[in-house]
Amino acid sequence: SSMATEVMEEKGQAFDSRKAEALVRDLRSRFEDGRTRSYEWRVFQLKAIARMVKEREKDILGALMTDLSKPELEAFVTEISLTKSACKKAISELKAWMKPEKVKTSIITFPSSAEIVSEPFGVVLIISTWNFPFLLSLDPLIGAISAGNAVVLKPSESAPATSSLLTKLLEEYVDGSAVRVVEGAVPETTALLEQRWDKILYTGSGRVARIVMAAAAKHLTPVILELGGKCPAIVDSNVDLEVAAKRLMGGKWTCNNGQACIAVDHIITPKSFAPKLIEALRAGVEEFFGKNPTESQDMSRVVNRYHFARLAKLMDEDGVSEKIVFGGERDEGKLRIAPTVLLDVPGDSQIMQEEIFGPLLPIVTVDKVEDGIALVNSRPKPLAAYLFTKNDLLKQQFVQRVSAGGMLINDTVLHLTVPGLPFGGVGESGMGSYHGKFSFDAFSHKKAVLSRGFVGEINTRYPPYTPKKQRL
Ligand code: NAD
Repeated sequence: SSMATEVMEEKGQAFDSRKAEALVRDLRSRFEDGRTRSYEWRVFQLKAIARMVKEREKDILGALMTDLSKPELEAFVTEISLTKSACKKAISELKAWMKPEKVKTSIITFPSSAEIVSEPFGVVLIISTWNFPFLLSLDPLIGAISAGNAVVLKPSESAPATSSLLTKLLEEYVDGSAVRVVEGAVPETTALLEQRWDKILYTGSGRVARIVMAAAAKHLTPVILELGGKCPAIVDSNVDLEVAAKRLMGGKWTCNNGQACIAVDHIITPKSFAPKLIEALRAGVEEFFGKNPTESQDMSRVVNRYHFARLAKLMDEDGVSEKIVFGGERDEGKLRIAPTVLLDVPGDSQIMQEEIFGPLLPIVTVDKVEDGIALVNSRPKPLAAYLFTKNDLLKQQFVQRVSAGGMLINDTVLHLTVPGLPFGGVGESGMGSYHGKFSFDAFSHKKAVLSRGFVGEINTRYPPYTPKKQRL
């Protein structure tokens, strides 16, 4: 392009299709020159990311404070240290991951050798979201780089401080000729989605996932969709109540204040047990956040006015607002909503239809705890399902009969920290998975390679198909 167009571009002209096309062309030629394929390039980038997280921890925590008022300790545990450990694991295991995997051959090809070679897809797109804006950008990026791809990351416009920090930091630390960040909202993402990518990983809502998948279909691009849903927690009466209550709170109010894809969306519990559970939650909330939870600094705020209004509407619906058993306080100016528990809201109310994604926690009562399983199965498949019980038979039934992206018994959220477990949804909660080696595999094509020499020729496979050959 001419000097004039370059100058215009520098003046901050919108990122449109033409720019998106040029970007992908650029990255594709970079990928094709082979640079991203070497073990050395990959490890160098991963080490740079690890260094970046360590050296710029304060800036990252600051951005998360700006975007979400995320308490430092919570941000450290859920964003910084999970990113660090994903990076560390990739660095220490990459060599083994990259090794072709030998497989057995059969008599038909004897003598021969066969192996599965992991090759990078090429140029990949990662579209991420605002709730864990650092982790959910870097975790997939670590996978894409480990697998040797050139990458574009599109962070979320709803976490603007983190997005612009990511742009700045990645420019500074990693190879900008193969790893790029594009900030922006719908128009920019639309321009990106028009291009031909070799793989797309999208994290966000099912509504936008349909747009992403339709755009990908035009180019036959495979997608990984990391979505959400209404994650249930079935709570039996046969539990250690105090521990169960704390862990339920850990999967709601101390987990980005419920704004997490695997946050507890609602609780299902026997009618006779609900009063005890509510009391334990009420006591727990006071212990964690004091008498005025909307003043507490130990809880993230609601991300923005749009989501605040959405949550307020869920609480205020006729038939729902009178079901609040505690909480309900809100401070619109500070975008704060107190932990709020509701008991037996109508099944057809909006709060029981859409993913809550905030501090509201409906409790649904059933006659027997086993009825909870049928109730969960009557809804779209969630990203996570939780069960609290000491009853082994119930645990077994839960694992066998409930379909969910992942499940966790007697705790919440922590399954995401086990790198040996794939993280991803099923049905409405998404497709494909990542984390640990699954991230490497998610961004690698598994190429089947069979190799023979020139001996072992058997002529029966070729014409003419004489009667003698046919008898064999
Ligand atoms: P969202 O889908 O509205 O936005 C996510 C991304 O999509 C952003 O980068 C945004 O720019 C882009 N986008 C928005 N509208 C678009 C359009 N019309 N065309 C193209 N791109 C568009 O989702 P959200 O509100 O940011 O996230 C909430 C959802 O994400 C919840 O459902 C939650 O459960 C899910 N989630 C899933 C995971 C997971 O790992 N599975 C993690 C976090 C959040």
